[in-house]
Amino acid sequence: MTFDYDLFVIGGGSGGVRAARVAAATGAKVALAEEYRMGGTCVIRGCVPKKLMVFASGYSEMFEDARAYGWELTDGPFDWSRFRTKLHAELDRLEGIYRKLLDGSDVRIFDTRATVKDPHTVTTADGRDITAKHILVATGGRPVVPDMPGSEHGITSNDIFLLDKMPKSILIIGGGYIASEFAGILNGLGVAVTQFYRGAQILRGFDDEARGLVAEGMREKGIDLHLGTNIVEMRAATAADIAGESEGVPMEDGKPAAIEGKAAGHGIWVKATNGTEKVYDQVMFATGRAPNTDGMGLEDAGVELGRQGQIVVDDYSQTKVPSIYAIGDVTNRVQLTPVAIREGMAFVETVFKGNPTPVDHELIPSAVFTQPELGTVGLTEEQAREIEPVEIYCTSFKPMNHAFAGRSDRVLMKLVVSVATRKVLGCHIVADHAGEMIQLAGIAVKMGATKEDFDRTVAVHPTMAEELVTMKEPMRTA
Ligand code: NDP
Repeated sequence: MTFDYDLFVIGGGSGGVRAARVAAATGAKVALAEEYRMGGTCVIRGCVPKKLMVFASGYSEMFEDARAYGWELTDGPFDWSRFRTKLHAELDRLEGIYRKLLDGSDVRIFDTRATVKDPHTVTTADGRDITAKHILVATGGRPVVPDMPGSEHGITSNDIFLLDKMPKSILIIGGGYIASEFAGILNGLGVAVTQFYRGAQILRGFDDEARGLVAEGMREKGIDLHLGTNIVEMRAATAADIAGESEGVPMEDGKPAAIEGKAAGHGIWVKATNGTEKVYDQVMFATGRAPNTDGMGLEDAGVELGRQGQIVVDDYSQTKVPSIYAIGDVTNRVQLTPVAIREGMAFVETVFKGNPTPVDHELIPSAVFTQPELGTVGLTEEQAREIEPVEIYCTSFKPMNHAFAGRSDRVLMKLVVSVATRKVLGCHIVADHAGEMIQLAGIAVKMGATKEDFDRTVAVHPTMAEELVTMKEPMRTA
């Protein structure tokens, strides 16, 4: 049987684009369909714009730090529209690069939605059927908003980058990566941030000590973080709600100031499980993400979906239908861009290079761009001690740049070490640039370095990271 293409990729995000390009480089005839903008969540409404906003927000503290270091500087306001224009120009540039890379690799681009018709056929939005020997679904995920009264008034991380004006106040719901990162970003940009998390501590799944320090740091920077708290109900605020507000809405001359971007009286009234009722300029839900499988025709084609709607795949990213594969967030394995890229490369290696390659999901380093930042690789103390006896090497201190500037931020460096093998099972860092540090520590941990290997490494002085190789005595065994 002949097909129109050797490979048809649905989804132009990081994983899909990489798989398409690398497959085409093997000589395969490849097409890719994207219904929105090339680059996907990471480039258009995720990692990239988020990180640029992290950078933007970080400057607010630098005025004060610079003065502490002897500079004559006065604080200035943040101009959201200036930043936003530049941000979107950058995203356009990056999208252009993605497109050019595909073109240069001879991948045929379809700027349209495509769904799966049968194991070898996709249908584009204009009703065209296109056949392919292999179909790769890389459609990513989307933010989920809880089903509750008034939730349609809230926004998600998708909307943040498109706002006309920065809100004066915002309530963020959730305690995961996105909620905690945006709490820091918006706080740094001068927004009054309240965060509700329903559990006992934000960043569930990360090392307890590390998440505790992140939460403490976030509070010190001014985020009004409420744990064990959720939203019960929300609706458009009435003038009476706003007039009755003492917090959340700025007051001018004893009256509520007009809410930026909306007429006074059009903020969002929120009732919380702790009994409080307040008006916020915006409410943002960061309550998790769902795989983009709705209306894709996958189940009719025989592809198995899991309970969250994710595509069920084996170690080689192959679905129950041998000709259909899936990679990235749509498979809900590890929702991280570099993992989706790895999965795409392993797929090409397996299918187009005849070298069956399972994806290695072990010991993935990652960073949460909270303020303070968290970098992590391997097991948390809590996970490790369930498995085997461990020694915990840990230090928390005020780094010299913060001490000099008179800032209270503390840094955490922590190693979880196996008593039996001496291997470093986990490394957790809370510090400025923790993401950069964990990338490097991640190599050692992935290589199976022991505590003694860390000790044999000479410290780079004076740095924060030198503490990783100078912790002599375990703080505790567990
Ligand atoms: P997460 O799963 O990390 O967090 C979702 C949060 O929402 C949790 O705190 C969860 O609480 C809470 N929640 C879920 N449902 C409700 C509800 N009905 N009411 C109140 N709270 C609720 O998802 P995110 O959306 O933050 O991020 C998705 C994924 O994207 C992450 O898992 C991560 O892999 C990736 N990502 C990575 C980044 C990075 O690498 N820096 C940055 C951003 C995203 P509970 O803990 O109780 O379940």
